[in-house]
Amino acid sequence: MRVTCPHCGARAIVTHRKPINVRASEIYAVCTSEECAARFVLRLSYQYDVTPPVSLLTDSLYERIANLPPADRARIIAAFAPKAQLPLL
Ligand SMILES: [Zn+2]
Repeated sequence: MRVTCPHCGARAIVTHRKPINVRASEIYAVCTSEECAARFVLRLSYQYDVTPPVSLLTDSLYERIANLPPADRARIIAAFAPKAQLPLL
């Protein structure tokens, strides 16, 4: 992860990290520009998953149904599948 100085745009170096909680940290950085030399704190935090962990994907209801024996899977599909639409006469 590249960090740039918010004041001059020069590259910055991360000096240390201070955890706030399991999903957020404060990142302490110093600007590499000798003319600027700013020291600043960034906040790094978890926002959302682009792809959930594999353990969640393989534990999903879809995966559980897909791994059932064919007869059990057919019973579940028959029970929850929409009924065929009959023409209204
Ligand atoms: Zn700077």
